[in-house]
Amino acid sequence: MNDSNSIAQRLATIREEIPPTVKLVAISKGATIEQMREAYAAGQRDFGESRIQATIEKQAALADLPDICWHLIGQLQSNKVRKAVQMFDVIHSVDSLKLCQQIDRIAGELGKSPQAFLQVKMLPDPQKSGWSEAELLIDLPEINKCEFVKIDGLMSIAPLGLSKQELVCLFTSVRDLQNKVNKCNFLSINLKHLSMGMSQDYQLAVAAGSSIIRVGSKIFAYQEKIIK
Ligand SMILES: *Cc1c(COP(=O)(O)O)cnc(C)c1O
Repeated sequence: MNDSNSIAQRLATIREEIPPTVKLVAISKGATIEQMREAYAAGQRDFGESRIQATIEKQAALADLPDICWHLIGQLQSNKVRKAVQMFDVIHSVDSLKLCQQIDRIAGELGKSPQAFLQVKMLPDPQKSGWSEAELLIDLPEINKCEFVKIDGLMSIAPLGLSKQELVCLFTSVRDLQNKVNKCNFLSINLKHLSMGMSQDYQLAVAAGSSIIRVGSKIFAYQEKIIK
């Protein structure tokens, strides 16, 4: 592997493109342990995984690196909530009131207060879960009753195949929703973060106000997808 195409080099390139206030989460669901160690050696500490079982194995293999911050980005089934609360520092994929309440109850039992983001779907997308804006506004008063889970952001995944303009529109609509929710002044819901932007669209997401980008293939693989 030559240096200009190393994981360290690709991480550096991305970091140069984003303000220091934006958190880069390295999505390692497709990465090997060796690749994750390479990213770690280059200073990367935030890693995102989509599956519980794979994360159990990776956490065991990387147990000598105790300061990794683990992010869950994949859909969470209710029978795995306890494991998820034990294993992850941040849950990006809270996609229903029921799941939110379950995470909260288990966090209370375990004496934990995980950071969590509400996953929203600003455009209809049958492949993705999450709240529409209207659905979220209805559920907010109940979400606000959660005591242990720290709800402080929105997460969004852009549907495949959007144009640049459509992506800008989508990311801006998530930021607008963040402002709208914050204006409601709920005691337990203070949305400081926007988790949006992946390998092919993180520059647009950051320009629209994203504070956390989730980048996988651009760090760990060579092939790049192209925005239409
Ligand atoms: C896989 C995944 C990513 C990373 O996608 P890339 O295109 O590889 O950067 C980000 N967010 C979620 C929710 C994912 O599932």
